[in-house]
Formats: sequence, C-alpha cells, structure tokens
Amino acid sequence: MGSACKPGKVYIVGAGPGDPELITVKGLRLVREADVIFYDRLIPQEVLREAKPSAKLVFVGKAPGKHTYTQDEINRMLVEEACKGKTVVRLKGGDPYVFGRGEEECMYVLEHGVPCEVVPGVTSAIAGPAYAGIPVTHRGIASSFAVVTGREALEKGRRMVNYGAIAKAVDTLVILMGVSNLENIVREILDAGVDPETPVAIVERATMPEQRVVVGNLANIVEKARKAGVKPPAVVVVGKVVRLRDKLWKFA
Ligand code: SAH
Repeated sequence: MGSACKPGKVYIVGAGPGDPELITVKGLRLVREADVIFYDRLIPQEVLREAKPSAKLVFVGKAPGKHTYTQDEINRMLVEEACKGKTVVRLKGGDPYVFGRGEEECMYVLEHGVPCEVVPGVTSAIAGPAYAGIPVTHRGIASSFAVVTGREALEKGRRMVNYGAIAKAVDTLVILMGVSNLENIVREILDAGVDPETPVAIVERATMPEQRVVVGNLANIVEKARKAGVKPPAVVVVGKVVRLRDKLWKFA
C-alpha cells in the first residue's frame, strides 16, 4: 500500500452457479453496496442489475471479441480501486475458492495492505448435480465425494489429479472443466478398474433455463456426450448417485 492509498475493502463474492436466486443474502447486499464490481462471464446478469446506478461495472472474464485481462491486471485493478477508498466486489461464478482463483486475488490484495473478505458461494460442483436430481451423497450409496478439475489429463507433463485412484477411492466423483478432456479422463478411470457400468451424468449450463442433462455410464458417456454436442460449462458426475435422478427429478 503506497502512501496514496486510503483503502476501502475488497470482497471476493461467489455469485452461485447461474440461477440468480442462488447468490447468498450477503453477496447480494454487497453487490448493492459496491462502488465497483469486477465480474466474470459465468455470473448471472440479473445480479448485476442490483448494482447502484453509480456503480462501475467492469467485465474481466474471457469472451470472444472482448478485451481479456490477465490475472496480474485484475489483481492490480482490485487494489487500485480499493485504494481510492471504494467498496470493491469481485464477483465470480459458483464459489470463489473452488477453482475460481479467488484466493489468489485475496492474497494479493491483503499483501498490498488492503482489507479483503471472502463471501462463499453455492458451487456448481454440488448445485449442478442437485438441479439435475443428483445428490452427491446418499445414505447407503455414497458416503464420500470429491471435486476435481478436468484440465489435468494425459497430455499435460505435470499431473496433479490421478483420476483412476480418486474414482476408486470415493463414491461420487465430480469433475469441473471436464468436457474437452472427457475421453482421457474416462479412459483413465476405466484403466484403473472401475466398473464400466458406473453411471455418469453431465449437467450442462446447470441451474440456468437452458440446463441440459446427458446420462449414461463410463462405457458410453463419451459417445453420448459427443452425439449430444455437450459444451462447457458442464459438470460431470460419476457414481451410483446418478441413478437417484429417476426418483428426484420430477420433470424427467
Ligand atoms: N468457482 C466455480 C467453478 C469455476 S471452474 C464454482 O464453484 O462453480 C468453471 C467450471 O465450473 C466450468 O468449466 C464447469 O465445469 C463448472 N460450472 C460453472 N458453472 C456451471 C454451470 N452453471 N453449469 C455447469 N457447470 C458449471
């Protein structure tokens, strides 16, 4: 913090997975109070309409034809605005600390002497399956679940996620950012010896009006996803809980 900084505060806010009503009460209050809002692509636009008319809204997500900010630029802008004494909201899809880089931003802000607070959000990892009639746990069927990123598959030199080992160790595996690498991930899980009949669901644009669900098993889900033309954002769920959809999803 330079001597010119009169810090307001930065709030790293989860906007929820898409349904505008899935933002928290605290998150919505801060959106209404914010002087500046830096927002991503996957946040519900209805939430932005709640901002004060005088609020400055800055899109910092990635979209075709729009200027893309680097993470460093975003970090710096958060500090810059807060140093003008402003209340700054950094609005992110789902939960800001689940593959959302919210923690990186908060660390940077704090390192620069500016107060920072996180407001957790409803993550697509749990809400996505739920809106498709799939609970991530169920008594007698699933006592554990794991959430992994799908962007760590075979072609990467540095491996952080061992999909096969995780799929064997937990009852429900939730994969975010898994669409483009689905084939590799599924192959790794099958190679680890997981039953090919294990049910799999893909929830595309979960909690949004355009939500779409593709259901299959480890043996056929890659083909089914290809045929359906599944596109991001989508949550992949692997495990027996997928079958509960038949009882929980009234509109099936
Ligand atoms: N912080 C976010 C996740 C960011 S990573 C959260 O907690 O939800 C981005 C990935 O999240 C997407 O590639 C997709 O896998 C998932 N995702 C986010 N919103 C989604 C939605 N509405 N429907 C399906 N998947 C979604």
